[in-house]
Amino acid sequence: MKFTGTNVLVTGASRGIGAEIAKTLASFGLKVWINYRSGLEAAEAVKTEIEAAGGQAALVKADVTKEEEFVAAIKTIVDADGQISYLVNNAGITKDKLALRMTVDDFNDVLSANLTSTFIGCKAALKFMGKKRFGSIVNISSIIGEMGNAGQTNYAASKGGVNAMTKSFAKEASARNLRYNAVTPGFIQTDMTHALSDEVKANYEKNIPLGRMGDAKEVADAVAFLLSDHSSYITGEILKVNGGLYV
Ligand code: NAP
Repeated sequence: MKFTGTNVLVTGASRGIGAEIAKTLASFGLKVWINYRSGLEAAEAVKTEIEAAGGQAALVKADVTKEEEFVAAIKTIVDADGQISYLVNNAGITKDKLALRMTVDDFNDVLSANLTSTFIGCKAALKFMGKKRFGSIVNISSIIGEMGNAGQTNYAASKGGVNAMTKSFAKEASARNLRYNAVTPGFIQTDMTHALSDEVKANYEKNIPLGRMGDAKEVADAVAFLLSDHSSYITGEILKVNGGLYV
């Protein structure tokens, strides 16, 4: 895949979908900045794997819900490499509960981790990439933001917000030659879905037209496309990666 830019920051890249995105983008020749919050060892393992495969990677610690930490991480990258070409806002959490049991704190924590952090990243990208008049941003949203889900009112609100916000950034930033897109994964095998019971997983799988949960690599390939030169006329798009579960 062809990339005009040279480097990328992937948030929450110590494990799961973020780690796979980091490895995939490194395989296409980008220098990958692996953001982690607490999982230093896991992040180092991702870096080691990338380097063993002949790629370039570096670590940058930040809790992306904290604007000063997230923006400082981006400044670190710009100071080291002279620019930041691409950003993948991947970090996210769940705190599932039926709405009647969900506290406002449960709601706000998920909004902060999934939506506010993505706003901070998108805004910083507008500033730093905007100066160079080049950049592409992909936000990792979710199928739940499109179809809703019992027990996930907080998560659905956060990801629905990410979708709407991505379109708004796309409109606001196009004059600076920046593209903003999102992907909405369905049920992907990671720690996040590992917590679901076998019964719940089997039930979901029954309803997925392709008949199985997705692999993180399948999300990573969609992200690579949306960042790359091959999607140069695509902005404000919400790309489903869900095996046909919601079409
Ligand atoms: P995961 O395995 O639980 O990994 C989440 C990653 O996000 C971890 O690296 C975690 O770092 C990081 N993170 C969380 N909060 C952070 C913060 N405040 N600052 C920095 N890093 C933070 O989750 P995943 O399944 O790979 O999910 C990745 C993204 O895909 C999320 O946005 C999720 O909503 C979305 N998604 C997942 C699925 C799925 O089926 N798995 C489906 C649709 C969408 P720590 O190790 O430090 O906690």
